[in-house]
Amino acid sequence: MKFLAGHYDVIVIGGGHAGCEAALATARMGFSTAIFAISLDSIAMLACNPSIGGTSKGHLVREIDALGGEMGINTDKTFIQIKMLNTAKGPAVHSLRAQADKNLYHASMKKTLERQENLWVRQGEVVEIITKGGKASGVLLSTGEVYTCQCVIVATGVYLKSKIFIGEFSQNSGPSGLFPANSLSKSLEDLGFKLRRFKTGTPARVNKNSIDFSKTIEQPGDDIIIPFSFMNMHIEKEQVPCYLTYTNKKTHEIITENIDRSPMYSGQIEGTGARYCPSIEDKVVRFAGKDSHQIFLEPEGLTTDEVYVQGLSTSLPIDVQLKMYRTVPGLENVQIMRPAYAIEYDCIDPLELKQSLESKRIDGLFFAGQINGSSGYEEAAGQGIIAGINAVQYIRGEPPLILDRSQAYIGVLIDDLTTKGTNEPYRMMTSRAEYRLLLRQDNADMRLTEIGYEIGLVTEDRYDFYMKKMENIEREMKRLKSVFLSPTDEVLEYLNKKGSAAIRSGISLYDLLKRPEIDYSDIEKLDGDTPNLNRQEIEQIQVRIKYEGYIDKQIKQAERFKKMEGKLLPEDISYSDIPGLRIEARQKLDKIKPRSIGQASRISGVSPADISVLLIYLEKKRRSR
Ligand SMILES: Cc1cc2nc3c(=O)[nH]c(=O)nc-3n(C[C@H](O)[C@H](O)[C@H](O)COP(=O)(O)OP(=O)(O)OC[C@H]3O[C@@H](n4cnc5c(N)ncnc54)[C@H](O)[C@@H]3O)c2cc1C
Repeated sequence: MKFLAGHYDVIVIGGGHAGCEAALATARMGFSTAIFAISLDSIAMLACNPSIGGTSKGHLVREIDALGGEMGINTDKTFIQIKMLNTAKGPAVHSLRAQADKNLYHASMKKTLERQENLWVRQGEVVEIITKGGKASGVLLSTGEVYTCQCVIVATGVYLKSKIFIGEFSQNSGPSGLFPANSLSKSLEDLGFKLRRFKTGTPARVNKNSIDFSKTIEQPGDDIIIPFSFMNMHIEKEQVPCYLTYTNKKTHEIITENIDRSPMYSGQIEGTGARYCPSIEDKVVRFAGKDSHQIFLEPEGLTTDEVYVQGLSTSLPIDVQLKMYRTVPGLENVQIMRPAYAIEYDCIDPLELKQSLESKRIDGLFFAGQINGSSGYEEAAGQGIIAGINAVQYIRGEPPLILDRSQAYIGVLIDDLTTKGTNEPYRMMTSRAEYRLLLRQDNADMRLTEIGYEIGLVTEDRYDFYMKKMENIEREMKRLKSVFLSPTDEVLEYLNKKGSAAIRSGISLYDLLKRPEIDYSDIEKLDGDTPNLNRQEIEQIQVRIKYEGYIDKQIKQAERFKKMEGKLLPEDISYSDIPGLRIEARQKLDKIKPRSIGQASRISGVSPADISVLLIYLEKKRRSR
């Protein structure tokens, strides 16, 4: 029996990485929010690898933090190892990656939700989304409770009609043995959404005490800890290592001999998997010439002896898993605690969404996370915070926050999904971003914190901290330009020791810092007046001075891009009526309804010639008006 049980401004369906960021954003912006999860044990569950960040994903975490989100802070509280990746390369690809204690990560995020004002955390399965007059107006739970609201955010992850596969065995199940959501898919189809089947997989969890680590290579964290959150300057913490080992010919033989028992190859699994998170079967088939693949043994936390076997994701039968795992050096006597499995689930086509993540067919209905066809905690959380912010903007009757491709990886992520779509789980990579040098992880606060503050999500504390940092950086940049070093013996000797070219006349500290062999600590030694700057400020000054030329060049490119993004297209335009547009372009444009000429130019099947036709059409319209 249905009964009205309550009202909230915003209802979030899902307590995963997307749902948590969305609900915290709307509650922190002052709107009453309810977040539902089938099981509260799934809150911020790291269902796959116990790590946050990595190349491009670390950028997303920093951007969420800069906007006032929680993932970076929660990782700093719960990591057991942290590392800056790609330090041998340029700053555009420097990325933080942390191993988190899986249980602590969940518990800490859950506590943050429980203590958040305006937020109600509730275990319950949503079986229907209620609409009125083409607008989202509430949800129905399996218990018959009806909750009304102004906005619904769907962040159901990998649970919609999810099914797991371990060889010939399969079962309707969510991840880690949790219940699936078997009813909401029908409600979405009744609302007109076309659902697709995607799949992902995870390796086994094995018992640490059954591993012979002497046969592996220790992978320690960084000596100097660089936190994820801009609000954390220093963290002292003892770290635990990961371990490296490899598959071998024997491993690959067992896989090849049993490939027909893999649901992916026997056709049992319909869902499309992620090209960039391949199972070991995929790797052995696709890279048949390779004798071995890297395996990382990642501790799942201090509160458990479970170890995640990164690189051995599979859906082969359990007997084959054990045989295969035991061929790997160090795992000869391994005990599997949780078998590896593949999971298939329903998701929507993100081309159904506006760049605000609001549905094009139902007002006030937003989608975030894996349900949109992405894969990864960070990708989910990045969408979650934007969906939360835009749910509030919708209620306020304000324009949505749309981050463009030159502002944030979150902008690249959402634009790729809503403009180009995806036919497999979409994972973020630095190669997807055109303006990588502008979208560094070290300057995410400069790109996003003021936006987060203006929209009412970034706290006064964070904003003041940020503004103080900006002041210090700008003042020091000016000072470095105005202070000159003369070619004294002391200076010449120092430069000589550094293998840096001698100077004949005065050189500004600014120009000196441009030299690759000179860094800010040298400036501090050569010039006694350097102010007491913190790690973040010094990093900014160094990157901006050393890469000034490249950064300026990319800023110009981004300005040209923004010009096209600024050419907005009317929402009610009918592209099939525009003469000169090719049929394919008309169909694609009418389906996607791009927001701007820039977005239209990124739709596959829309040619530069079509864009010229559009520009002429817009100009004629403008003149006739
Ligand atoms: C087996 C497995 C392997 C994975 N492998 C990878 C990988 O290799 N690489 C990678 O990047 N990512 C991987 N992931 C994905 C990663 O876990 C997800 O990307 C991430 O968790 C998505 O976050 P989300 O917030 O969208 O959803 P989830 O974290 O899945 O959370 C969904 C939430 O919605 C709730 N929910 C669902 N339906 C309902 C309903 N009807 N009513 C109420 N609550 C509901 C659930 O209880 C849960 O709280 C894997 C996930 C799994 C399960």
